[in-house]
Amino acid sequence: RSLPNAADAFWMPFSPMRAFNEQPLLFDRADGMHYVTPDGWRVLDGMAGLWCVNAGHAQPRITEAIREAAGRLDFVSSFKMTHPAARSYAQRLCAFAPDGIERVFFVNSGSEAVDTALKIARAYHHARGRSARTKLIGRAKGYHGMGFGGLSVAGIGRHKQDFGPLLPDVAHLPLPYDRETMAFSRGLPDGGLAAADALEELVQIHDPATVAAVIVEPVTGSGGVYPPPRGYLARLREICDRHGILLIFDEVITGFGRLGTPFAAQAYGVTPDLITCAKGMTNGAVPMGGVLVSEGVYDAFMAGPPEAIELFHGYTYSAHPLACAAGHAMLDVFEQDDLLGRLNAVLPVWQEGALRLRSSPHVVDVRTAGLLCAVELAPRAGVAGARGQQTYQRCLDDGLLVRSSGDTIVLSPPLIAGEDDVETIFATIGAALAPTA
Ligand code: PMP
Repeated sequence: RSLPNAADAFWMPFSPMRAFNEQPLLFDRADGMHYVTPDGWRVLDGMAGLWCVNAGHAQPRITEAIREAAGRLDFVSSFKMTHPAARSYAQRLCAFAPDGIERVFFVNSGSEAVDTALKIARAYHHARGRSARTKLIGRAKGYHGMGFGGLSVAGIGRHKQDFGPLLPDVAHLPLPYDRETMAFSRGLPDGGLAAADALEELVQIHDPATVAAVIVEPVTGSGGVYPPPRGYLARLREICDRHGILLIFDEVITGFGRLGTPFAAQAYGVTPDLITCAKGMTNGAVPMGGVLVSEGVYDAFMAGPPEAIELFHGYTYSAHPLACAAGHAMLDVFEQDDLLGRLNAVLPVWQEGALRLRSSPHVVDVRTAGLLCAVELAPRAGVAGARGQQTYQRCLDDGLLVRSSGDTIVLSPPLIAGEDDVETIFATIGAALAPTA
């Protein structure tokens, strides 16, 4: 397999690594659970692309819907005009979302969804005559895309270091995870409420009347799959309500079935004021994102501020016809193929496979939430990331694509994964971690 070297190519690779020159993998086809290289090598996709191909690759009904839409209406702007699928898809999407979510603002990516949500939060307070409420609260290890807003509220320091200054007046909650005991990932809920009470302390330090919104991923994704301890999200909701602060769930990863429910909000029984989504929305086939908002938030900011200035926000490709067609087809697949039912049936095998890895050499912690899993490895003496990279490579050599982030292996396969796929995934990782002779 001769793969082109990134240094020889004319494009700038995603995340240009300064330290070493990665050889990008070359895939030219995909179907179902697999990527295929030009010479026909099939690789099991343990990451659903980049947490997005939830219904499996090249889903025929989604492909056909995009093809049909492209031949009929290639583009129409959302500025003073629209098309039928934008309206019907919005309606269907809000029905798929938790009760209380009634409107969607269409964007083209997770990053745009986050920046739009942060802007809506500020506009909401502004419209209600509370223009002092501008502060934003994120959380340690949070990932919210690459826009300046998302980067500012994010909690992964190395992503920010080259791009400052970012937004002022941003504070961060601690991650609700005790590294000493790893209690939360071991099913011990104690401490969850105390972890959420860090928000009360933070809000008091910053003065509640100046805080616009809190944004969290219900399950931290890119930062290493940290599920919330029991009661944690409900307590965040309570604290936000007490102080009139908007709660935003960034569901770019957890949305569209990843946890066995349409959104994490339904899995944890907590409805935020705004939900950001993207990725699985169109099964990754065309770019699309959305900000789902409650009727209360929508009504307030549409009514406008006391001085009633124009509210202007939107993107050229908002509610793009191809994206709306793909979005519709994705919801069809959810219904017709019972994706959530299938996923819930496979979850026990998933959890058992993940737990088995706890006894593998070098494994520090294994965390799961729905069809997400992080396998945290002990760094090899003195070389951070080396063990993660080695495990990634061994899995790949064995035909399984995982994601390595430092010394953590992350899994997020398509939701159509069968029991045999799940067994293959965990057996391959187990073998990759086995001591070599
Ligand atoms: N928020 C979360 C939680 C994400 O995981 C991501 C992407 N991994 C984003 C936002 C940004 O999405 P995009 O890359 O589509 O801009």
